[in-house]
Amino acid sequence: MSERITIAIDGFSSTGKSTVAKQLAKALEYIYVDSGAMYRAVTLFAMQKGLISNDGFDKENLLTYLNDITISFEYNPVKGFAEVYLNGINVEADIRTLEVSNFVSLIAEVSEVRKKLVEQQQQFGKNKGVVMDGRDIGTVVFPDAELKIFMTASAETRAQRRYEELKAKGEIASFSSVLENIQERDFIDTNRDDSPLVQADDAILFDNSSLSIKQQFEALLHLASEVISRTS
Ligand code: C5P
Repeated sequence: MSERITIAIDGFSSTGKSTVAKQLAKALEYIYVDSGAMYRAVTLFAMQKGLISNDGFDKENLLTYLNDITISFEYNPVKGFAEVYLNGINVEADIRTLEVSNFVSLIAEVSEVRKKLVEQQQQFGKNKGVVMDGRDIGTVVFPDAELKIFMTASAETRAQRRYEELKAKGEIASFSSVLENIQERDFIDTNRDDSPLVQADDAILFDNSSLSIKQQFEALLHLASEVISRTS
């Protein structure tokens, strides 16, 4: 039987990381963990408690609540991936709104939040056989991952993809607000002090601007298969 490896997929917002991560996990029979969903769930919690709004963010108060936040994943056989739960409630749809996207990078800057979530992410991957996507997976969560991908594409391409996604879900958003959100998150994610988004030295840079979802999947599956056979 072939060795199970850890696959870390990092990169800018809306580069299609989760789409390909889910496909890879399915093809390899690995577990898939969407680490961004965990930061989004904490953001939703903060919004529900009134700790975050356009007027500001009550970080001190959020910290007092950290032990009350439980995030879990449950496999949905109909959708074919694990959905995220916040304190036992399925929040998969609620965390994908533009409102959550607008605040999530602020929450992701908080070191105490990162520490809590990184510990849980490392637990998920302790037996290998995991595909995890995020911003710091290859640098902080799994620095020893056998395969690290750093995904990128132009901001306009990414905004167009995200805009279509939101439109399909019936969420009203202008293209310019989606592009602005992506550029702002890229800026905060790359410039924060704790675990900024950077390409790990041993990560493979993968620009998918001109690739279809199928082409991207085939290329990355090929890479993963090579690494697995080298490791086995
Ligand atoms: O991947 P997604 O776009 O859903 O992530 C939402 C946000 O969560 C990112 O913009 C980033 O601020 C934060 N994040 C992070 N570290 C991760 C995953 C996500 O800081 N590993």
